[in-house]
Amino acid sequence: MKRRKWINTMAAAFAALCVAGTATAFAQEKIKAATTIGMVADLVKQVGGDRVAVDQLMGPGVDPHLYKPTSGDAARLSKADVIFYSGLMLEGRMGDLFAKLARAGKPVYPTTESVPESQLLEPEEFEGHYDPHLWFDVSLWAQTVPTIIKGLSEVDPSGKDTYEKNGADLLARLAKLDEWCKETAAQLPEAKRILVTSHDAYNYFGRAYGFKVVGLQGVSTVSEAALADMASLVDFIKDQKVKAIFVETSVNPAAIKRVAEDAGVKIGGELFSDAMGEPGEKKGGFDVGTYEGMVRYNLTTIVNALK
Ligand SMILES: [Zn+2]
Repeated sequence: MKRRKWINTMAAAFAALCVAGTATAFAQEKIKAATTIGMVADLVKQVGGDRVAVDQLMGPGVDPHLYKPTSGDAARLSKADVIFYSGLMLEGRMGDLFAKLARAGKPVYPTTESVPESQLLEPEEFEGHYDPHLWFDVSLWAQTVPTIIKGLSEVDPSGKDTYEKNGADLLARLAKLDEWCKETAAQLPEAKRILVTSHDAYNYFGRAYGFKVVGLQGVSTVSEAALADMASLVDFIKDQKVKAIFVETSVNPAAIKRVAEDAGVKIGGELFSDAMGEPGEKKGGFDVGTYEGMVRYNLTTIVNALK
C-alpha cells in the first residue's frame, strides 16, 4: 500500500514536470510571422499577442510598389512559420518570391483576401487591377483580420482561442477608430473636403469619409509625374479654392511642392501613405509607429490644414 502511494506520487510529479516543460518550450518558441508593410505587421502583432514574433520587411519611408526583395529578405521569409502580405499587387516586385515560397509549402497569405471584391475599387489608371490602398478605410482594413486569425491558427492550432479573442478585441478597437474618423471628417464642410496629394493612396479614404481625392501620380508610384498632369492639377486647385495640399512620407515630394508653388497654396503637412512611422515615433501627439496612431495623425493633419 505504501509503495503504491509512492509510485502514484512519483507519477504525478513526473506528469507535472512534463506540463511545465511544455509550457517553457511554448514561452520560448514563438511563432515566427514575416510581414511586408507596417499596417499588416501591426494587425498581426495585435492578433498574435505574446505567442507570435513579427518580422517586418518594409520599414518607415519604404515604398512597397517599388520594393525589390534582397537575398536577405528571401532568407528571412524562408525562416518564417507563416507569411502575411497585403496583396492586390501592392508589393508588386515580391509576387514571384511569394509564389515560389507558397509552391514550396510555406503558408503565405495576402491579408486582403478576406475583403469581398464587391467592396474594392478599380480606378482607370490601374488598368484592370484593384486599388491596393485599403488601410485608410478603417472598416475595410478591419476585414483583413479574419485572414490573420485563420493563418495563425493554421500554423499554431493550440493558439486558436487566443487569436480569436485577440482578433475580436482588435475589431472592437477598429470599429471605434472608424467612428472617430467619421466624426472628425464631419468637422469639415463638404465643399472643403478635397485632398490633393502625390499619389492616389486615398481613394478608399475618400469614399469612406466623404473626401474628393486627387493624386498626381496615379495609383502606383512607379510612373513619374507628367507635366500635363501638373498643369491641370494647378488649375483644379485654383478653381476649387483648395487651401492646402499634402506631401507623403514614402513618395518624393518634389512634384507636389512645385504644384503648391505654381498654385500659390501651402503644403498642409506630411501624410503617411504606404508606410507608417518609426516604432514609438510621436508626430502631432500621435504614435505614428502604429496603425491607429497613423490614421489619427493623417486625418487630424488634413482637417486642420483644410479648415
Ligand atoms: Zn501606394
